[in-house]
Amino acid sequence: MKIIVTSLLVFSSFFLSAQTNQKLYHIIDAVSSERIKQDVQTLVDFGTRNTFSDTISNTKGIGAARRWIKSEFETISKGCNNCLEVFYQKDFVTKKNNNRVPHDAWVVNVVAIQKGTKYPNRYIIMSGDIDSRASDTMDFTTDAPGANDNASGMAGTMEAARVLSKYKFESSVVYVGLSGEEQGLFGGAGLAKYAQEKKWDIIGVFNNDMIGNIKGVDGVIDNRTFRIFSEPVPPNETERARKMRRFYGGEVDGISRQLARYVHKTTKTYMPEMNPMMVYRLDRFGRGGHHRPFNDLGYAGIRIMEAHENYTQQHQDIREENGIKYGDVIEHVNFDYAKKLTAVNAINMASLASAPPAPNNVAIGGVVAPAAKFKWDKVNGAKGYKIYWRNTTSPTWDHSRYVGDVSEFTLEGIVIDNYFFGIASVNENGFESVVVFPNKVFRD
Ligand SMILES: [Zn+2]
Repeated sequence: MKIIVTSLLVFSSFFLSAQTNQKLYHIIDAVSSERIKQDVQTLVDFGTRNTFSDTISNTKGIGAARRWIKSEFETISKGCNNCLEVFYQKDFVTKKNNNRVPHDAWVVNVVAIQKGTKYPNRYIIMSGDIDSRASDTMDFTTDAPGANDNASGMAGTMEAARVLSKYKFESSVVYVGLSGEEQGLFGGAGLAKYAQEKKWDIIGVFNNDMIGNIKGVDGVIDNRTFRIFSEPVPPNETERARKMRRFYGGEVDGISRQLARYVHKTTKTYMPEMNPMMVYRLDRFGRGGHHRPFNDLGYAGIRIMEAHENYTQQHQDIREENGIKYGDVIEHVNFDYAKKLTAVNAINMASLASAPPAPNNVAIGGVVAPAAKFKWDKVNGAKGYKIYWRNTTSPTWDHSRYVGDVSEFTLEGIVIDNYFFGIASVNENGFESVVVFPNKVFRD
């Protein structure tokens, strides 16, 4: 009798914690639209934040903007016992061979790292952009407030740092302001290379680029929907991986796509009023963003942004023409919406930074059998594993089974041909890793 009672208690405590975690609701509540507004205002007041603008002035230009962002991160760090490591990461770009570079300059990113307690070399990264642009991207003197593009993403990143720095996480959380976005994604490329050289184990990158506009150029007003862009498979995958896909599937199951599904699921669980919209593309049609340089090196990265853009308010000199007011001014930013998207980032970073590493060497078998079979390598920190599956046409992992602390499992009665499968690690608090799509096949 005693044994039964004990096991029931263990089960129920796991069951409860696996439902939802109160900490994530507290994080949502702590995000402040007022602070985001203040930060966007401060960024707008620098006049232009064009990457090639003034670096000497303390009130105008990109130099003043990045020094202010760095000092904000340092202030946040003082409030958490110096929990943030704050530094500039920079690369020199030259006019030569770059037709959108008006003169040689340092592209300077501001990085703040909250080191993980258990897996310091695993990183989840949230980025916004420091820089802005006028109509002409080479014009580094005309005012370019860039309130939505992309002071909103930058302010959201600083606000996430304020909120999450009150907690400790097993993996490292990085908050970063990137530069040189508008002239060729220079800052993202620089930091991705830096991370690769330092051998960071990157869980994923959340690139926030424009998170404050709710009224689209098409007239739609919507403060609930947002987009999660993810590429299907890494561009640097091996020829063998590409060939295997033809026979075993995976066309829509690359690492960035799994990260997108993770964000979709966490948002639906904790912020059911929101409407996350996965877009099966690297980015908007023919356009770019700072997650791409990370994807280029094989890291998982997604773009989080508003659903409805307004092109008369992006990359435009402030002016009025034919009754249309052009310019990316602060009046068009909706701060309650920017707060929600910041909360989306914060709960997903908290969740991933609290989760164990994903399982390694996930293998699948079960050809011509009435069951799907799995084998994987256990990871340190996992209490158990969860097998996910879905119909081949479904965008989300609709079915799952927690299978405990094992390294192989057979799903009886599930025919391998009719579903896609993946496996996640789960810890004692119910936090889950990103789902891993099988990367090996076995027969027995
Ligand atoms: Zn832009």
